[in-house]
Parts: sequence; C-alpha cells; structure tokens
Amino acid sequence: FISPIEVLVELTEMFQKGISGFRRFEEIVSLIPDIQDEKDAIELKDVKGDIEFSHVSFQYNKDETILEDVCLSIPSGKKLALVGPSGSGKSTLCSLIPRFYDVNKGSIQIDGVDIRNYTLKSLRQAIGLVQQDVYLFTGTIAENIAYGNEMASFEEIVEAAKLANIHDFIMSLPEGYQTFVGERGTRLSGGQKQRISIARVFLKNPKILILDEATSALDNESERIIQKSLDHLSKGRTCITIAHRLSTIQNADEILVVDQEGIKEKGNHEELLKKNGIYAKYYRLQFEKSI
Ligand code: ADP
Ligand code: MG
Repeated sequence: FISPIEVLVELTEMFQKGISGFRRFEEIVSLIPDIQDEKDAIELKDVKGDIEFSHVSFQYNKDETILEDVCLSIPSGKKLALVGPSGSGKSTLCSLIPRFYDVNKGSIQIDGVDIRNYTLKSLRQAIGLVQQDVYLFTGTIAENIAYGNEMASFEEIVEAAKLANIHDFIMSLPEGYQTFVGERGTRLSGGQKQRISIARVFLKNPKILILDEATSALDNESERIIQKSLDHLSKGRTCITIAHRLSTIQNADEILVVDQEGIKEKGNHEELLKKNGIYAKYYRLQFEKSI
C-alpha cells in the first residue's frame, strides 16, 4: 500500500532525478493500488459538473468515522462553501471527489454517474485543486505551470500566468519563465507559489474546482490579490471552497457549517445570519475582530 504522501515523495524524487521526464501527477497518484479503474470504466467527457453525494460514509480506519451519511448536491456552476473547525472532515470530503480515497458507504456522482464508473484519468482531469500548501517541483516556472500537460504551448502558459496575476512578477525575474524553482531553485514567497498553482488550474481548465484553504497561509495583502484570481477562476465552474475567513465565502450559493458530528447548518449567507445559529456567531466574531 502506498499512501498519497509517499506517492508525492516519490513523485518529487522522480522529477528531481529527471528519470521519468514529465508525467502527470494524476497518473502517479493513480498508482495507489486500491483505487483503480473499474473494468468497464467510461470516460468523463463533456463535463457539466453536477456533483451529488448520496448517503456517503467514510473512515480512514475502523476506529473512527470521519463522514457519516452525508448527502449534498451541487448543481453545475454553483458554489458550495464548507466552514467548520479543523479536523471536522472538510478536506476529507473534498478528497473523495477525485477518488484519492473511495467512500465506504453510499456514492458520489458526477453528472449522474457514480464516479467509480469513470476512468481515474478523465475524472481527475475534470477537477482542479488549489490547496494551502503548494508543491513546486524542481524545474522552470513554465514547466511548473504546465505541470505535466505536454500539450501546453508557451503562449497558453503565459495566458494562464496572466489570469493568475503572476505574469508581471515572472517577467521581472532575470530568466523569466525559464527561472528554476523548487527545492534547489529560486525561492518564492507563499503568495507567489500560490499564484503559480492557480495558473496551473487556469491552464488545466477543469469544470470542477476545489479550493481547500487556498489563502489561509497568506498575509492580508497577498490574500486580496489571490482572492481576485480565485474569484475569476471560479467563474463558470462548479466550486467547493473551504475557508476560514468568512468574507471569502459570503457569495456562495450554499454554505455548509460542519463539525465532527456532521452538517450542522445549511443555507446562504443571509439565511444563515437570519437563523442566528453557529454561522451567525462565527460571523460576528470575525467581523468584530476586523473592526
Ligand atoms: P479538516 O479539513 O476539516 O480540518 P480533515 O478532513 O483534514 O479535516 O480531517 C478529518 C479527520 O480525519 C481528522 O481527525 C484527521 O486527523 C483525520 N485524517 C485526515 N487525513 C487522514 C489520513 N490520511 N489518515 C488518517 N486519518 C486522517
Ligand atoms: Mg483541511
């Protein structure tokens, strides 16, 4: 059994040794042995981006149930936000969509089909992920934006960087897009790395977007810049956002307030304020802090 972390370590080493050249992260993650294509797996294509969780339960191990009987549906193009304390299973819920793990009970459907019926490659191609920790491999900035997409032209890479508000910074470097980054390369700030990871997703152009605390590690100034790129990125895509700062999710179509026990409240910003429950309390706390 290889855990995703070990796969990532292996991936890092492979890139650094340059043995494999340029392989898709998705292909390597799909080497995790217990998650494989079904025999008659079909391609997920012409993605609409409807996501449906039906009675999903999940455990990493027998002792602890992380998700129990979760039902939710996100229609194509809509924005769902998850808020709640750390350890409540928000990242776990998101990691089930690209099948980093499979559900123990129930099912997840995309466009009406159980995701286990899709090929892993086409499923993961439909999903863009922006996380708090950005992983850059040793290579040029251009290669890091292309991220295994051998078909990307230089023009497309530049276009993606512009959309992610990182082009001007890249051009200010002596070697521009050919600048070496990663562990042994030029050091970039958290915000710069985050914008490179956003450029990757613009280039990938997936119909489904998962933003898992994408701006949590950043200072306010970088957060503002990056939030603008993320708002732009999420247009026209089905989007799940996990965020601590409630200001970033106020416009979500639906907000789920979760804790260890499950979904506690559900509604949009106005509805949840009116309800005057947990969300309203969080909101007042954060709002008071910011004035
Ligand atoms: P959140 O994103 O809301 O902070 P997580 O989904 O990361 O919560 O974690 C939910 C629970 O699952 C936590 O108790 C965490 O320790 C556990 N957990 C997360 N990842 C793993 C893993 N790979 N193996 C075992 N337990 C895990
Ligand atoms: Mg998390």
